[in-house]
Amino acid sequence: MTGPTEMLEIDIARKRYPDRGGRPHLALADLRLSIGGGEFVCVVGPSGCGKTTLLNVVGGLDADVDGRVLLDGKPPSAGVGFMFQEPRLMPWLTVLDNVLLVAPDPEAARPHARALLEAMELGDVLDAYPGRLSGGMQRRVALARAFSIDPGLLLMDEPFVSLDAPTANRLRTMLVELWQRRGATVLFVTHDLREALALGDRVCFLSGSPGRVVLDLPVGLPRPRAHDDEAVSTLYAELMTRYPEILAGLAASAEDIEGGGDGR
Ligand code: ADP
Ligand code: MG
Repeated sequence: MTGPTEMLEIDIARKRYPDRGGRPHLALADLRLSIGGGEFVCVVGPSGCGKTTLLNVVGGLDADVDGRVLLDGKPPSAGVGFMFQEPRLMPWLTVLDNVLLVAPDPEAARPHARALLEAMELGDVLDAYPGRLSGGMQRRVALARAFSIDPGLLLMDEPFVSLDAPTANRLRTMLVELWQRRGATVLFVTHDLREALALGDRVCFLSGSPGRVVLDLPVGLPRPRAHDDEAVSTLYAELMTRYPEILAGLAASAEDIEGGGDGR
């Protein structure tokens, strides 16, 4: 692996949100997590357990917290890449300019951004506006943007939800290839346990609200792995049997939810 990789230490005693109907809401409590430099850690937990809150705190977007986050011994600042549930592209900027938006020096970054987009098969749409692109292509632009700054730390909040299965799988493969090639410490949150098992070196399970880590599991499966690999399915089934209470509320995968027929 090349590129910067940084050790992340998270120690959150309490994260409260101010009053909602009279009482403050405790979103996270006693959440400790240590991630080695270059490690890919997935955090899974049911909806509402505090995953997005955790990423906002770790990324410094939310400083109203009783606790601390250290990246190589210092509060994270520059060099943190984000990818959210929605691609969050600016509709009035071209694909290339959306990527350059996060560059400290856009002119100097232009050749690197072009090369990255071309490598991600977006070379034909460098000058297109996001509204013309499919959902999968928009996510690819967001992924390129996250990697374009060579982040030491990459924070990902369910970035592949509501995509069809082949598109989501392709993006997961691209993500892992970029991570392996360029190196970054990755904190990836999802409510999809199968996705976590397909991606992570480790999977940390959060309890229901207030979220804290209740199980920290190394994933020994060889790479490359796919979401629908037999080995992933076997491990998934084993975990469901071994930890039914911890895993209650987690989806096997987005496709399984859709297959459930509730039309979500
Ligand atoms: P997740 O991402 O795991 O679904 P969130 O981190 O979004 O969970 O939310 C955790 C809890 O905190 C939820 O109960 C949610 O309603 C609450 N919450 C999130 N953001 C706010 C906010 N800005 N103000 C008040 N409560 C919030
Ligand atoms: Mg969330």
